[in-house]
Amino acid sequence: MFGPSPFTKEFLRGLRLPYPFRTKQESEGQFRITQLCELTEQYLEPIFVKEIYRAYLFSANAHDGQRRGTGEPYIFHPLHAARILAEMHLDYQTIIAALLHDVIEDTPVTLPQIDKSFGSEIAEIVDGVSKLTHVQFNSQAEKQAENFRKMLLAMTKDIRVIIIKLADRLHNMSTLEGLSSVKRSRIARETLEVYAPIASRLGLNDIAVDLEKLGFKSLYPTRYRILSEKVKATQGNRWRLINKIEKEIRRRLQAEQIDCDVFGREKPLYSLYQKMRDKGKSFSEVMDIYAFRIVLNSDNVDDCYRVLGHVHSLYNPVPGRFKDYIAIPKVNAYQSLHTALFGPHGMPIEIQIRTETMNAVAKTGIAAHCRYKNDATVTNAAHQRAREWLQGLSEIQRKSGNPLEFMESVKIDLFPDEVYVFTPAGEVMELSRGATAVDFAYAVHTGVGNSCVSVKIDQRYAPLKTPLENGQTVEVLTAPWAHPNPAWLHFVVTAKAQSNIRSYLKKLKHNQVINLGRSLLTQALVVASTKLDDVPQEQMRAVLLQLSLDDLDTLLLEIGSGARKAELVACQILSEMGQEGNTLLEQLADCQFHYPLRIKGTEGMVVALSKCCYPIPGDDIFGVRTGRGVVIHTKTCKNVPIGSARDSGTLVNVEWESDIDGEFPVNVRVEALNQKGALATFATAIANMGANIENVKISDRDGLQSSIDFIIDVKNRHHLAQIIKRLRSIELVSRITRP
Ligand code: MN
Repeated sequence: MFGPSPFTKEFLRGLRLPYPFRTKQESEGQFRITQLCELTEQYLEPIFVKEIYRAYLFSANAHDGQRRGTGEPYIFHPLHAARILAEMHLDYQTIIAALLHDVIEDTPVTLPQIDKSFGSEIAEIVDGVSKLTHVQFNSQAEKQAENFRKMLLAMTKDIRVIIIKLADRLHNMSTLEGLSSVKRSRIARETLEVYAPIASRLGLNDIAVDLEKLGFKSLYPTRYRILSEKVKATQGNRWRLINKIEKEIRRRLQAEQIDCDVFGREKPLYSLYQKMRDKGKSFSEVMDIYAFRIVLNSDNVDDCYRVLGHVHSLYNPVPGRFKDYIAIPKVNAYQSLHTALFGPHGMPIEIQIRTETMNAVAKTGIAAHCRYKNDATVTNAAHQRAREWLQGLSEIQRKSGNPLEFMESVKIDLFPDEVYVFTPAGEVMELSRGATAVDFAYAVHTGVGNSCVSVKIDQRYAPLKTPLENGQTVEVLTAPWAHPNPAWLHFVVTAKAQSNIRSYLKKLKHNQVINLGRSLLTQALVVASTKLDDVPQEQMRAVLLQLSLDDLDTLLLEIGSGARKAELVACQILSEMGQEGNTLLEQLADCQFHYPLRIKGTEGMVVALSKCCYPIPGDDIFGVRTGRGVVIHTKTCKNVPIGSARDSGTLVNVEWESDIDGEFPVNVRVEALNQKGALATFATAIANMGANIENVKISDRDGLQSSIDFIIDVKNRHHLAQIIKRLRSIELVSRITRP
């Protein structure tokens, strides 16, 4: 392709090649670097083949002296992985990274060394493969397998990492003999549940089929043997029939001058096994289907439909079985026409019809887009092309309305929304990107989240707020006494953690507040040598009725939250019980109560609104403890300054309840021109504002001006402000005050 190759066997043999060139295996038909060079020079320029060769020497040196479980020199493993990829014509970076893929993991060579020798792009791919090596799948649950697949893909920034991993796995699967049976079945199960589905999602069908075959063989050796023997036994008869049908189809299509190949298709053993297992079909049922594939020797899509017409006229189609995956491709971009026919003697036939390109995509999927293209403008852009392919897929899905299943699985860095981590038991948890150990704890179980105290990430202690990374193993340590911390709300990202922390805190608070209320009331009653439990039901009901509360818990909640003073409630209880409770009020100023006493102004005998400053809801107020209870004054009261109450130790911190229904007397002094009918004008204005006038006192200042004190009932300060505004609008009025 690029002229005479410098990498003929003779050329390479002439070099002083290091280990393992002159090992026994070389003469025993092992795949060799010379063959990899020959393979890659079919599609790569010599300069890249040279690089591949250099990478091989680098890797062989690093792995020098290491052997695999099978006994062969280690270098054969990366070499085989590279071969699988070279057969798919992947770009030289992928081939080199495949040769180096175990170097970081298994040899003293470091990532910076690879970076230095082969550049950052290759180093990053090698690093990506090494990271995947660390994660192992152990769970038996199907749902877990799906999450694990997602984890691998989420960890993969470059799709070539996954393709190398698949080649790595494929070669490992063919060399399992050296391993213990436990390890063998673990790897086989992982292959069937994780790697084969990934290969198939990425459209790498050839690799998927090989992985399934090897996985099936290793995990269920007996089932594999029996099934393959049965298939062999039926083969003699089948081939005659298959040949007959093949010939008939070919003859018909040749007559129509359609250039194509017709293949009798053997169904893979594992897919036969799956059909039997999952659909409960018998062996004869799954074997009685004869499958064919018709591949055009062109890319003429119309010819696919022509072929379809001809096979439908050759044999009767089975109704409802035609599928047009050309118009609506499968989620992994697979395109073909599928139909089922009644063949000779009514035997079922399945046929796939596709173009040359569709066939290539069906075999190698995404890898077809990572293939090396001998075009200077697209060199080094394999990953870019793969991304475009992925984006194209999402377009396909959008148009066809297919579920987003595929895109969900192929996250890569196009879809950086999730992070996947392990529980210590090997389960994979899916969390939002940025999720922390606390999010993880709640994802495991609400109880774990509520009682987590610390976390180990990959065996090391870490702060609870540490954002998790793909593939980490997270172990949450809990303690029975632990409880959620409100500060966690600053860093958790998952809805589950947020809502659980909030509701726990709310619940915790509710219970705690009730408990606090109970102990405060108990404490208050102790002064009168009364226990809360000793309060008779009847008296308690009477108090609750007075306070318009439904039950004791609500009362305790209000006490605990500071909405009510325990002492006041105690007073009420005691007076209901016929005791003198006033001494309790001496405790009201105790600094142990930081909350202000919230009053409604309707507490009755224990709370009185002063008649000197007429406090109304909305006013800044304070209380003064007296022998008869608490008297409330406004903070602007001139008769009883707040300072004097503070000094005498009788000050009680009070504030109004937030929503108060009721009417409160207030003194409004109106100074106005002394004119006939003025009083009636003011009284009408006040009445029109919905306030009742309790009392009026007129004191003449001089002949012109009079001062009128109204005691009116208002709802609150706002109501009073409206009344004052209205009075001000009357021309006679010169000044309005609250004395
Ligand atoms: Mn490997």
